[in-house]
Amino acid sequence: EAKAGNRGSYSFFSNEMNLRAQERLALENALREAIEQQQLRLHYQPQVMVEDGRLYGVEALARWHHPVLGEISPARFIPLAEESGLIGNLGLWVLEEACRQLADWQSRGIAVPSVAVNLSPTSFHNVELPDIISALLARYQLEPARLMLEITENVLIDGNAATLDTIQEVHALGVKLSMDDFGTGYSSLSYLRRLPVSELKLDKSFVHDLAHDQTAQALSEAVIRIGESLNLVVVAEGVEDEKQLKLLRQQGFHVIQGFYLAKPLPAPMLEGWLQKRTANV
Ligand code: C2E
Ligand code: MG
Ligand code: MG
Ligand code: MG
Repeated sequence: EAKAGNRGSYSFFSNEMNLRAQERLALENALREAIEQQQLRLHYQPQVMVEDGRLYGVEALARWHHPVLGEISPARFIPLAEESGLIGNLGLWVLEEACRQLADWQSRGIAVPSVAVNLSPTSFHNVELPDIISALLARYQLEPARLMLEITENVLIDGNAATLDTIQEVHALGVKLSMDDFGTGYSSLSYLRRLPVSELKLDKSFVHDLAHDQTAQALSEAVIRIGESLNLVVVAEGVEDEKQLKLLRQQGFHVIQGFYLAKPLPAPMLEGWLQKRTANV
């Protein structure tokens, strides 16, 4: 009897695992199709200068609306794309779409100074990346400095030899680099000396805890000091209320981004936001 019970539970688990593997495979195939057929969309979240409320730039964030499952979060499909080898193509699509949109705004006289694109570490394994970006900038007639690439502290961790070279080549084009989610990675500060970033983005988890956590406050002050001494623009992401904004302003943050200003929006809605807004920072 015990034997039969064991066998029963064994096959139960293996069925459940099969089901999960099947679901995953189905989602992976759907994502592959969505990338190929250009069914992903970009939303744009404004970033605003603390000092005078001017628009600093926008961050492009990928969105996937699955025909049956509905909206699927990047927190789910970006890791899936990374694990299944789709992230390279996804990154290239995002780059092109962001450049196309920036050129469109430019041609219509809508003043968006720059667009930031998130790139996974894997994208920098592609030694063609600098040439691809250079061709995009030429095709859309964009000044390189209007493109910001957001990388994370983990970008050098996998030890891929091409990564640092590729990053430096991209930088040599005049494209800007930002250290995203700063403070959450495993890296030591020495990475900052090797990566030619011009911007630090304090991770939103620190901003979230700012008002009620002395440690988060101390760390965000430290990030400001590091940024100022290295001459970097320091950005706070995930700003949700006035209290956080006030603290960040006191600490000397240059740029803020978060729901307090606007959620990530489809391009036409961002345009509406830009038109309506009175400098509220
Ligand atoms: P991230 O690059 O750090 O982007 C910021 C995330 O915080 C976005 O989540 C944004 O919607 C969210 N956010 C903005 N303001 C607030 C706020 O005030 N409060 C809170 N709670 N959240 C806020 P999203 O769009 O879900 O993206 C999550 C992550 O997925 C991104 O984090 C980025 O790491 C990744 N991701 C998104 N789009 C892309 C992409 O095109 N390529 C790659 N490689 N990664 C992407
Ligand atoms: Mg980002
Ligand atoms: Mg971030
Ligand atoms: Mg983040």
